[in-house]
Amino acid sequence: MGLFTKDIKNMDDLFVHTLRDIYYAENQIVKALPDMIEQAGDPALRQGFESHLAETKGQVRRLDEVFRLLGKEPSGVDCPAIDGIIDETEDVTGEVDDPRVLDAALIAAAQAVEHYEITRYGTLIAWAKQLGRSDCAALFQQNLDEEKATDKKLTTLAESNINRKAA
Ligand code: FE
Ligand code: FE
Ligand code: FE
Repeated sequence: MGLFTKDIKNMDDLFVHTLRDIYYAENQIVKALPDMIEQAGDPALRQGFESHLAETKGQVRRLDEVFRLLGKEPSGVDCPAIDGIIDETEDVTGEVDDPRVLDAALIAAAQAVEHYEITRYGTLIAWAKQLGRSDCAALFQQNLDEEKATDKKLTTLAESNINRKAA
């Protein structure tokens, strides 16, 4: 933010700012997932994190394409929300000894990440459509569909056996 002027002057600026926010967030998630893969004890959970890491790298590539469509260089802006969710994950998982409880904690943390992403993509799709960028909206929609599917998969893993084993 400038000292005398405000950087977000209109809806286009707000749209690009939010694109940069999710771009930063996705890149932080790419960095955070390998730790979560290493910590996961349940093979299906580990596999789920592995496949979402590969998916997340593809999501970053889709966002690169959105920047290209907008004629802008891909760049992020700090997202204190995703940094906070990842810090909280590390704080909580660092306090857990029992590997079964750790799996439940990892799922809870991962779902907080997915829900943050879901809210951002929902907003970006609505704004892209309003601003006449259905090309960008279609790319965001593909990322949103993957986040929603991941969130559902995590719920299924938790409710089918991981929570029961942890309790
Ligand atoms: Fe993502
Ligand atoms: Fe953010
Ligand atoms: Fe995700």
